[in-house]
Amino acid sequence: MKKVLAFDIDQTLNVAKTPITDEIATLLVKCLDHFEVCPISGQKFDQFLIQIVNRLPHPTAKQLSHLHLFVAQGTQYYRHNGTDWEQVYNYPLTSEQVAKITATIEQAARELGYWEADKLQDGDEIIENRLSQVTFSALGQHAGTEAKYAWDPDCKKRERIVARCKELAPEFDYEIGGTTSINAITPGMNKVFGMTHLLEELHVEKSDILYFGDMTQPGGNDYPVVQMGIDTITVRSHEDTAYALRGILGVIGDLA
Ligand SMILES: [Mg+2]
Repeated sequence: MKKVLAFDIDQTLNVAKTPITDEIATLLVKCLDHFEVCPISGQKFDQFLIQIVNRLPHPTAKQLSHLHLFVAQGTQYYRHNGTDWEQVYNYPLTSEQVAKITATIEQAARELGYWEADKLQDGDEIIENRLSQVTFSALGQHAGTEAKYAWDPDCKKRERIVARCKELAPEFDYEIGGTTSINAITPGMNKVFGMTHLLEELHVEKSDILYFGDMTQPGGNDYPVVQMGIDTITVRSHEDTAYALRGILGVIGDLA
């Protein structure tokens, strides 16, 4: 049996950038009794708390000890020590790298007519420094879900931005994720980095892991996990993930 269930977050556990549903929360808590549960996503630590941890219905300290947060594609790792979350490691970008990536993405998006600053809500930003990566969100972090889904449903805009960024600053990697996002990282600082550290930290083998993601196609931010040879379930949404988790828990006999 698998020992680890690892999950992309946006579009895999939730509707992008929103808290998980009651159903997913209930299923995840049940999974904590049987598996190490590892969300891994480009998002920041506080979003892991808002979208996942704070939604779990009354988890025990023992259950939380089996929840492992691989933040910013696993370039930061947090675990629960019985009272609070503690950071185990962190591999941030340098300020020079952040400045170069930020300028590159803005130039590419402006050249292509995809710089939508006029659509931003007050206080929101298109490019965010997430310490281990820089993230472009075309309509900002706080835009409505509907607007985000409508902006680039076939990924074509983001593929054009990525192609231009690669011309301007080829020393970085650019991955498409979420609904309007591009994550820029130093080569290798993708989910392979996170999953490799997961293997070390949890003392498990690749074959012990089952990974869930919605962007498993080449160029997607879950694809590196597929390339590693980790068993992967491709989902269209959190509803597919719930369906699969009900199946897994049903086989174990823990689906009340
Ligand atoms: Mg996703």
